[in-house]
Amino acid sequence: HLSNAALMTRRSAAVARGVGQAHEIFVSRAANAELWDVEGRRYIDFAGGIAVLNTGHCHPEITAAVKAQAELYSHTCFQVLAYEPYVELAERLNALAPGAFAKKSVFLSTGAEAVENAVKIARAHTRRPGVIAFTGGYHGRTMMTLGLTGKVAPYKVGFGPFPGEVFHALYPNALHGVSVDEALHSVELLFKNDIEPERVAAFILEPVQGEGGFYVAPNDFVESLRALADRHGILLIADEVQTGAGRTGTWFASEQWPVAPDLITTAKSMAGGFPISGVVGRAEVMDAPAPGGLGGTYAGSPIGCAAALAVLKVFDDEQLLARSRALGERLMAGLRRIAAGEPSIGDVRGLGAMVAIELFEEGDTGRPDAALTRKVVAEAARRGLILLSCGTYGNVIRVLVPLTASDLLVDEGLALLADSFAALR
Ligand code: PMP
Repeated sequence: HLSNAALMTRRSAAVARGVGQAHEIFVSRAANAELWDVEGRRYIDFAGGIAVLNTGHCHPEITAAVKAQAELYSHTCFQVLAYEPYVELAERLNALAPGAFAKKSVFLSTGAEAVENAVKIARAHTRRPGVIAFTGGYHGRTMMTLGLTGKVAPYKVGFGPFPGEVFHALYPNALHGVSVDEALHSVELLFKNDIEPERVAAFILEPVQGEGGFYVAPNDFVESLRALADRHGILLIADEVQTGAGRTGTWFASEQWPVAPDLITTAKSMAGGFPISGVVGRAEVMDAPAPGGLGGTYAGSPIGCAAALAVLKVFDDEQLLARSRALGERLMAGLRRIAAGEPSIGDVRGLGAMVAIELFEEGDTGRPDAALTRKVVAEAARRGLILLSCGTYGNVIRVLVPLTASDLLVDEGLALLADSFAALR
């Protein structure tokens, strides 16, 4: 019989230690918002494989679509022999993306690749090198995306040098003392001290920072950034790898912005657990790279396209955008109830079903409590609830439960979270 401990021993001996692991648990099967480990223990999944399972584990319609696709053809490489699902997916996402202008798409495999390609496309269109990203942002583990990422440990440690012409401005974060005005001023400082705006190709930001701690970009900040971009011929890229695919109550979070981005990156939940990513954006920008300039062997694989089309169908059939908003309200209310009796919880926030709590020593927002956060996450796992932390200070607990989870299961998960806090008091 397999045990988690025995598998951890084999893992440690065989797998590079740089690959982290939030929980010392090995899964044996999963269904919707529940999973079971190799010892037969059941867990409620509030992590969703890091924002990948908005439609739950093994949704029968998505599984069926993937099986059917695998039996027809699983790979041709789109640059060699094309297939309709890729084109249909592009048509669908072009229609969903915000902005009253023509759009085009390209598909890749991972979120980091989508960001890499968004930067390539922005550079090709503007013929400029610079990219301005934001503190606390997370964009991936490849060299360019690590350069863009605004958090050193653990992502960037030991991996430099990173590509040049990348600069970081402040992401507005009222809770931690960064106002919208200060954030905008930090962009002006970059223009003054580091790079003239005429050499900047793009701003890239997450509508809600994911790994950075679930901080929502205020609408007036986005509006001012758009105005700055327009004034200087800079493109605005929304990295929606974590916020996209319905997590925030709309298909793309940037649909809730007062202004449209030029390019959107998408991955994670767009295919319900199968690897595919994309860049969707303004047609003339997307067409800047010459034929042959974009692509990849597995980029936009038939399996990924079939899964993504099935995800879109499930969103329609099960009205998951409305569900995302309702679930968000349920989670916010439940977390606020827990926070009312728990002084360490200094903030409950979110957009749609992308919600989080932030922990501080005695609720003092000057003293982030990463140690308690780790304890709560571990205690919850012992009790059968899988959580993920995040945040610049490691003191945020995020909820990424499938949108398809029942209210009953969500409430059971919230109760386990409350019990975990109580047990640690
Ligand atoms: N951008 C954002 C906003 C993300 O949250 C992530 C993944 N956490 C990435 C990019 C990178 O995606 P991937 O891990 O699929 O390369």
